[in-house]
Amino acid sequence: MKIICIGRNYAEHAKELKNEVPAEPVIFLKPDTALVLGSQPFFYPDFSSDVHYECEIVVKITRLGKNIEEKFAHRYYEEVALGIDFTARDLQQELKQKGLPWERAKAFDGSAVVGNFVPVSFLRDAQNIEFELHKNGEKVQHGFSADMLFPIDRIIAYVSRYFTLKIGDLIFTGTPAGVGPVQAGDQLEGILEGESNFRIRIK
Ligand code: ZN
Repeated sequence: MKIICIGRNYAEHAKELKNEVPAEPVIFLKPDTALVLGSQPFFYPDFSSDVHYECEIVVKITRLGKNIEEKFAHRYYEEVALGIDFTARDLQQELKQKGLPWERAKAFDGSAVVGNFVPVSFLRDAQNIEFELHKNGEKVQHGFSADMLFPIDRIIAYVSRYFTLKIGDLIFTGTPAGVGPVQAGDQLEGILEGESNFRIRIK
């Protein structure tokens, strides 16, 4: 199982980190050891002092595919969840400045939180999925999938040109504006279409 992540997929978020809005999807990977299920705690890593949450829609691949056409991409997933792409922002800044890969800042143990998968057919509007992240009970992110620069089906088509998609692979589809730091003791709750999707504690 692999975890594929899309960066800078919402214009407002690209701007808040002073990044350009990309012409093509920005892709990076996390290993399976990054995965944390939504009921387990997140352990703050000792190599960073500025870990940020990034709440994202996560797509689970249900068919093997390579060079998938965008018009057929919807056949390759049946469920979505919310997740967090935890990012050691201080380390990422350092790596970006040096032009180095982001893996140490993005792919560390526990950096990919995934909540409960919900069938796409249960969503009010699969083309415009609404989601929120609450930190300690306060709303900090509010996104709509229709604001993605590269929608889910286009991401699947693009990614599958480079990486064969396998059953169980997860795609993190990027975060909207409002990213920010966490500290020990914080509680994060993801809300998908008005329903709690995960709740985790930072330790
Ligand atoms: Zn992200």
